[in-house]
This record gives sequence, structure tokens and C-alpha cells, in this order.
Amino acid sequence: MNLIHLATGNAHKAREMQALADASGLPVKIVAAATMPAVVEDTGTFAGNARKKAAALKAALPPGAWVLADDSGLGVEALDGAPGVESAYYAGPAGDSAANLAKLVEVMRPVPDDKRAARFVCVLVLLTPAGGEQRFEGRCDGTLRREPAGGGGFGYDPIFVPDGFNRTFAEFAEAEKNKISHRARAFAALARWLKENSPVQGSGV
Ligand code: IMP
Repeated sequence: MNLIHLATGNAHKAREMQALADASGLPVKIVAAATMPAVVEDTGTFAGNARKKAAALKAALPPGAWVLADDSGLGVEALDGAPGVESAYYAGPAGDSAANLAKLVEVMRPVPDDKRAARFVCVLVLLTPAGGEQRFEGRCDGTLRREPAGGGGFGYDPIFVPDGFNRTFAEFAEAEKNKISHRARAFAALARWLKENSPVQGSGV
């Protein structure tokens, strides 16, 4: 069992990544950074922000660590991709997710039903002990409901209906969302890469 340090202070995120690793059969342990250095997410791209978080944590750890960072958000077609990298702060710097959701509901009110396409995106950046960098991306396409529905999930889940379903992500069980979410798809790509490229083929990193 090998260790991957996740560039977040958020224990919930580490638990979710661990669940994705377990589901993909990767024998790794994913731990949230004990002290995550402060990082200003100002690069304007998911990949740039993830890379910045990964590099900050790598610099704070002893040499030889595996480091993983993620960045994600919701891109709305009718809003030219907004809120995008600003998803966490759409309604202001406080990062209030209920306010972000309420703002998006209002901004989207005049947008007709056939123009409500949106997409969650997640980018993962993995830094290897040898100094290499790998990037993985996952997307989940869907449409935005007019009114929130469901009590699960977080963020924009209550108005996001993934393609092929008739329920919002907030009406999904966590394990069900974890099969098709942007994070799950990015993590599946990471797991494939680790299985093919890690020193201990298929059994560890
Ligand atoms: P971060 O990658 O944790 O910084 O997330 C950025 C923001 O994107 C979150 O605060 C949410 O607003 C939004 N977001 C990312 N993933 C999801 C998701 O799975 N459901 C709902 N909102 C999400």
C-alpha cells in the first residue's frame, strides 16, 4: 500500500478520492495534506490551478512523495463557460455554496430550456517522486434545472441533471454519483495510468 498526498486541507475530498481509488482497485492510501500551504488559485484554468496546488504541497514535503491535486467546477454553455474556475466564488469571495447556487438559478432564469447545457470538469495533476507530472481530465455533461431539487451532494448538484438521467445530482446516492461524475472519470484515467506505469505494475505506486 503506497501513499498519495492530496493537496487539500479538506478531509471530505480525501475520503471521496479514497473511495474512487478503492472502487478502481488501486491499492493506494490517499491522505489530505496535514498542513496545506496557502495557494491563490489565479491561473485562470483548472489545470493551472491544480498544478499550482500540487507544486506547493510537493515543495512542503520531503523528497520522494507522490502528490495529487485537483481543481473542478461547472461550465455553463449559455454563460460562455462561467462560472468555470470561479465556481467556488461565483457569488463572492466568501465561497458560500448556497449563495453560488442561488445566483446561478437567477442568472439562468431567462435562459430557455433548450439552451441550458452545462458541464462539470475535473482536472487532476499527479506529481511523481521522479519529478514527472501527469494530467488527467474528467467531464460530466448535463443540463441545468430551473429550481433546485434533492438533498444530497454539494455545490451546484441540486440543479445539475447529468445526460441520460431525469434527476439532479443531489438526488443521486453518493456511490451512484461516484460512477459517472467528472471526478470519477478523471480518477479512472489516473488509475489506468498508475496501473500501466507505476513501478509495481497494477499493485501499487
Ligand atoms: P474545488 O475543485 O473543490 O475548488 O471546487 C470548485 C467548485 O466547483 C465547488 O466549490 C463547487 O461549487 C463546484 N463543484 C465542483 N465539483 C462539484 C460537484 O461534484 N458538484 C457540485 N458542485 C461542484
